Amino acid sequence: MMLGMRTIGLIGGMSWESSAEYYRLLNQEARDRLGGHHCARSVLVTVDFAEVEALQRAGDWTAAGRLLADAAAGLQRAGAELILLCTNTMHRVAPAVEAAIDVPFVHLVDATAERVIAAGLTTVGLLGTRYTMEMDFYRDRMRAHGVEVLVPDEAGRELVHDVIYQELTLGRIEDGSRAAYRRVIAELAGRGAQGVILGCTEITLLVGPADSPVPVFDSTRIHVEHALTLALA
Ligand code: GLU
Repeated sequence: MMLGMRTIGLIGGMSWESSAEYYRLLNQEARDRLGGHHCARSVLVTVDFAEVEALQRAGDWTAAGRLLADAAAGLQRAGAELILLCTNTMHRVAPAVEAAIDVPFVHLVDATAERVIAAGLTTVGLLGTRYTMEMDFYRDRMRAHGVEVLVPDEAGRELVHDVIYQELTLGRIEDGSRAAYRRVIAELAGRGAQGVILGCTEITLLVGPADSPVPVFDSTRIHVEHALTLALA
């Protein structure tokens, strides 16, 4: 059977540990929804995370935006009909990426906000890189949807950030870090977070609903599910 399924373009490599998860979830979800041998039509471009990470540290978001805009344009030339940027942090340069393409850009923060609102929550904790937790781009976009975001204290932010860059994006999953994340999540819940956003696409490799006293919003899975719904619409 031929389906009217649009081809999903993935900008991956940030890190590939999470891109692999996107790829796996996307195809698994397509099979769950469509049955049989169905999978998701997709194209994936992988950028070199070492380059992106160096630009982040240098604060050169303009160059990072150009790099990802080129990747997005390449995906469109390769047949992508909607495009996902498979990282929360690099949504800092989402406007540059969107400007480079004519096909829809599936914004991860919008998809996550929709899910939080659908769950009836208004205040949620956010775990992610320092860029995601401390810069305006994520918090302001959530606020525009009517969702307030709480972030960990300075020590908690440092811990969450360091585990992402020193372990998760390098493929290391450590029990000690899971325990530390649990404490940070519990602290956010204690301060009034009604849910917690796993706002970094590798965090789902470390913790899940069982590690949290409040509902967990996994940005990777939410982004994938939202994109597939659009691709099949
Ligand atoms: N994948 C991570 C995120 O969702 C962090 C890696 C990056 O800096 O892009 O934010």
